[in-house]
Amino acid sequence: MSLDTYRRKRRFDVTPEPSGEKKPARKGGPALIFVVQKHRATQLHYDFRLEWNGVLLSWAVPKGPSLDPSVKRLATQVEDHPIDYAPFEGVIPEGEYGGGTVMVWDKGTWEPETDDPGAALAKGELKFTLHGKKLKGSWVLVRTRGFGKNPTHPSWLLIKHRDDCASTEDVTANEPYSVTTHRLLADIARDDGGDVAKAASGDPTPRKAAR
Ligand code: MN
Repeated sequence: MSLDTYRRKRRFDVTPEPSGEKKPARKGGPALIFVVQKHRATQLHYDFRLEWNGVLLSWAVPKGPSLDPSVKRLATQVEDHPIDYAPFEGVIPEGEYGGGTVMVWDKGTWEPETDDPGAALAKGELKFTLHGKKLKGSWVLVRTRGFGKNPTHPSWLLIKHRDDCASTEDVTANEPYSVTTHRLLADIARDDGGDVAKAASGDPTPRKAAR
């Protein structure tokens, strides 16, 4: 795992994102963290990140996760991110890589449902349990045949397994707020000097600028 690609894409004197230069001390026990960051960049997407081997493995999920086991959501693997990216919420300046508003949409811990997650990832089928605020229970990431068109950005599918946490509820529409600050994208953009209208277009219903 390397953060070279992550760093090459960003100017850390311009963007408020972390460089991942310092490895933060792991807090608490061996629990692995996960985070889902809702990101209103050029296209709205949800960045799904799992801590593994000292980095956050990262997938961009255009439609976000679905609690419905019959729904498969495309998850395009992107560059590994530093662990200290997990709490990042704010505005990436327009013109910079990923320019737009970022929200911590869900966070928690995850557990692999296998003794050898590294081998499962290499094989292209990782089963895992999420302990988040919005996302819970058993899930799978499956790499698609052919890995998609772009070899550096393989295509996976994110799918909910059938269990007590499965539901036909539209979790992205019904739970649009930041799990850490309870703000909508538009609120974050307004607070951090971003493009409020652009951010609001990623919120479920258009809102007036006034809070
Ligand atoms: Mn993103």
